[in-house]
Amino acid sequence: DLRLELDGIKVKPSTKGTQIPNPVVHWGQMGLSLSSLNVLTSLGYSKPTSIQSQAIPIAESGLDMIGVAKTGSGKTLAFGLPIIRHIADQRPLKASDGPIVLILAPTRELSVQIVRELKPFLKAAGLKAACAYGGAPIKDQIAEIKRGGIHVLCATPGRLIDLLTSNSGRVLSFKRITYVVLDEADRMLDMGFEPQVDKILSNIRPDRQTVLFSATFPKNMASLAKKHLTKPVEVTVGGRS
Ligand code: ADP
Ligand code: MG
Repeated sequence: DLRLELDGIKVKPSTKGTQIPNPVVHWGQMGLSLSSLNVLTSLGYSKPTSIQSQAIPIAESGLDMIGVAKTGSGKTLAFGLPIIRHIADQRPLKASDGPIVLILAPTRELSVQIVRELKPFLKAAGLKAACAYGGAPIKDQIAEIKRGGIHVLCATPGRLIDLLTSNSGRVLSFKRITYVVLDEADRMLDMGFEPQVDKILSNIRPDRQTVLFSATFPKNMASLAKKHLTKPVEVTVGGRS
């Protein structure tokens, strides 16, 4: 049985034969960059949380994954630390290339919060992020993206569709996006964003890595994952609710 249980973590590979990396209990065992390790030390985050222990090695191995763990369990760094590694592996990059990582989040507040939490790690690695959400002038967000050199774009689905179809021309190149995060996927479904998510992901190269994080695993999330993830490894910390 490939099912592994450790400290309340359940790992269920949905494909037989996939090499699933083991959970790691020390930051130093994850192959994180020195800059990320330094930021973790300065924040006083002495060890990974349960979801981070399991999800980071899996995401860093390049596999698609679904991570389910309750609110406050540290999901942002579970997908965020592998982002730093992923981008470092894509270099050299030109400022005009467009983002490498796309994070979709259901609300403006969440997208701002995600970028705020990733900022010190991005900054230490010399990387830049931008947010795009509704309820704020689109032209400011277009200007920020056009300035270039953005490695990570964190967006709400509605505003990203606006940007894609904006009549100020195609401001955003999706051609380099190779890592996609669907954060708070349960809330995105609740808010009716599935058609927008479908449209956005159909514009992103199919050889990308896609990771989905959520506090709960409602039935309709399985079909969302089936559409957009390739042979995902599923990690559940605590129970599915
Ligand atoms: P979730 O997305 O699962 O709701 P967050 O990623 O927002 O949770 O994390 C919740 C809080 O825990 C944040 O304030 C975050 O900075 C903090 N945190 C994350 N990882 C660690 C860690 N390994 N050690 C201590 N605190 C952490
Ligand atoms: Mg979160």
